[in-house]
Amino acid sequence: MSPASDWIRPDIQALAAYHVPEVGEVVKLDAMENPYTWPDEDIRAEWAARVAGVGVNRYPDPRATELVASLREHTGLPEDQALLLGNGSDELIQLVTLALARPGAKVLAPEPTFVMYRMIATFCGLEFVGVPLTADFGLDMPAMEAAIEAHDPAVIWLAWPNNPTGNAWPRAEVHRVADVARGLVVVDEAYQPFAQDSFIGELGDRDNVVVLRTLSKLGLAGLRLGFLAGPTAWLGEIDKLRLPYNVNALTQAGAAFALEHFDRLDRQATEIRRERDALAAALAALPGVTVYPSAANFILLRVPAGSARRLFEGLLAEGILIKCLDGAHPALADCLRVTVGTPTENALLAEALKRQVSAVA
Ligand SMILES: *Cc1c(COP(=O)(O)O)cnc(C)c1O
Repeated sequence: MSPASDWIRPDIQALAAYHVPEVGEVVKLDAMENPYTWPDEDIRAEWAARVAGVGVNRYPDPRATELVASLREHTGLPEDQALLLGNGSDELIQLVTLALARPGAKVLAPEPTFVMYRMIATFCGLEFVGVPLTADFGLDMPAMEAAIEAHDPAVIWLAWPNNPTGNAWPRAEVHRVADVARGLVVVDEAYQPFAQDSFIGELGDRDNVVVLRTLSKLGLAGLRLGFLAGPTAWLGEIDKLRLPYNVNALTQAGAAFALEHFDRLDRQATEIRRERDALAAALAALPGVTVYPSAANFILLRVPAGSARRLFEGLLAEGILIKCLDGAHPALADCLRVTVGTPTENALLAEALKRQVSAVA
């Protein structure tokens, strides 16, 4: 027998595993989760009853008929556009990349952006082309157009709003990218509940644009449900790679129930948007801290040079977990990302960061 290292692909051996920190009881503001759960006892009981009624001895509905119908209605998806469900939108990023992984095919995205685009391209053995954003995290349109021309990417990922920068690029620039590209353009609208803007209404105008969404940031991260919407010519092919029962029966029932009570999630999103603006103002008042504008449920900060890691550790010592982005990408030097929490959590964060900033000054 020869060791695993003789067999595992060398490019896989060279990877570091995706790191999700294991922490105990903390104020958790690192992962863009909605801080609220189902607000009312009666709704929780109804939800539990619905889930308890699912026959888990049977395989789930492979087409998730009920859930697909309610998502179509909920998003106002144009009749002629297809919908594909995933075990979180991460799975759909993987399926899209796999479907396009012809030898020599390339994946392109502006950077810094959501790291899974690059990671999954690597998993599939594809070259990833990162095009740097401008200093204020705008799309560098001449550079984007030149890179698209030079590399002819099979897929371009546009997180809109972008993670971790929080901004949404002008629609006209997204249109321009799609018009210049020959391959697929995926507009990833993970933060749509907070941006309140979407390309779903435009699907079909361009035959190379699809929209990716998730219920995770809206308050259902634990259910793992994402969806891809767009022309059948693309989605019908990508669907062939989907494992038959990728969205389990409890998720199907739980998500369908959640959509029936969408007004509650919507109210939470409204509250989070209000809190985002209050938190941004509080953080911007701290000496040496720059707050970037956000259309999402998180805020990107730049702190005094060389202090990001110490501030992150100082907050953790006070029981508050955020994300340290210093070192993740050259454009993110001295950057921290905080998820908007409850008013109480946000106040704790602002107070603690104030203490930590004066400690490192
Ligand atoms: C969080 C996030 C996702 C992943 O969401 P899941 O549906 O939980 O897998 C996708 N895209 C972006 C830009 C994100 O920030």
